[in-house]
Amino acid sequence: MTTVRYAPSPTGRLHLGNARPALINWLFAKARSGTYVLRLDDTDTARSTEEFARGIVADLDWLGIVPDLKVRQSDRTALYDHARDRLIAAGRLYPAFETEEELEIKRGRARLLGRPPVYDRAALTLTEAQKARYEAEGRQPHWRFRLDGKPVHFDDLIKGPQIVNTASMSDPVLIRADGSYLYTLPSVVDDIDLGITHVIRGEDHVSNTGTQIEIFEALGGAVPFFAHHNLLTGAEGEGLSKRIGSLSLLELREAGYEPMAVAIMAVLTGTSLPVEPYADLTSLGQALDLDAISHGPARFDPAELDSLNARILHQMPYDVAKPRLAAIGRASEPLWLALRGNLRRFSDIAELAQLIDGAVVPVVAAEDAAFLVLARDLLPPEPWDETTWSTWTTLVKEKSGRKGKELFMPLRLALTGRHDGPELRSLLPLLGRKASLARLS
Ligand code: GLU
Repeated sequence: MTTVRYAPSPTGRLHLGNARPALINWLFAKARSGTYVLRLDDTDTARSTEEFARGIVADLDWLGIVPDLKVRQSDRTALYDHARDRLIAAGRLYPAFETEEELEIKRGRARLLGRPPVYDRAALTLTEAQKARYEAEGRQPHWRFRLDGKPVHFDDLIKGPQIVNTASMSDPVLIRADGSYLYTLPSVVDDIDLGITHVIRGEDHVSNTGTQIEIFEALGGAVPFFAHHNLLTGAEGEGLSKRIGSLSLLELREAGYEPMAVAIMAVLTGTSLPVEPYADLTSLGQALDLDAISHGPARFDPAELDSLNARILHQMPYDVAKPRLAAIGRASEPLWLALRGNLRRFSDIAELAQLIDGAVVPVVAAEDAAFLVLARDLLPPEPWDETTWSTWTTLVKEKSGRKGKELFMPLRLALTGRHDGPELRSLLPLLGRKASLARLS
């Protein structure tokens, strides 16, 4: 049974870059009838808010993700305390009393000596008396995980075989001096407790994985599979920041983008699959394979989002559009089919529909006036359908001797008041004979 988790910190709204792991996990789980857990990593109480937590759920919902289970780390401290005690008893978690300034001095010294600024483990050699003295001075310890020093190997489902050399890393701090947990330990404890089978996340977490695998093993938990995907960047390769909110999902939504367009861009950018419309997340999930995710950068191109959004609308079946059309009083299949090909955003439909029954001001050049009278008099009798345009214009062509642009542009300008727009073949039957007569006159 596949179980995945998406684990954002509720310290901002989600942006496009966050949508990538959110969706890749979702598609992976749903393609395997698995379970999707939304885990809010809210141990940083100073920056996590209830409002951001609600915002994340709303952003996921907009994308079409409805988690099977929601948990938040702030509710699960007892589990972390239990794991902490076990690691202390096993000698893998040790108290350290250095202040930030003392650590900075140590790092500076290491740099001067040309050594990597790795923590020297001085705290491991403290005697009980020294520890008692620090505590008597009012120093609270922070707690470090004692790394094994052996290279950690794992087979990444995207990046292939990986080796993390924990010998060149500082023993990571798992618990701050105020007793609060950093992300690393709670994440492993939750992954064990929730039976996570696959950890799919950004490649900025590869080196954490070395530490986390050691913690899984120290706690006797089953080590899940790991898959680290490339991170979405801006066109210049710059990172997308959640806190700055660049391209937040909320902004994209308010700008009128289709959630499927955003989802497809978030998932398929930086893969070997072409960016093209998919009807829904299920079909996108069938196409996506972790192997398709490239090892190079994933550069997001806003122009590609615009064109994908338009293509999705141009192909959108009436059934799908109907409820949204009904909401603006425009639920008509012929109208949708006539106009969808000219949409950039769904909301454009309201303005385009004005071409049919709004106050269109026909544009008539002086030299076309006689031609338009001739054309008007040749309008066929109703009923009209998609063939009417060609029947009519064939006749107008014959009688007027005009062809091509000379023939079509004056008709379009008179009928719609614009140089471009929906195909007249589809628009004409919607206009009907009466309105067409009036505009040609
Ligand atoms: N809260 C972590 C993050 O947002 C989760 C990383 C993970 O998936 O383990 O980076």
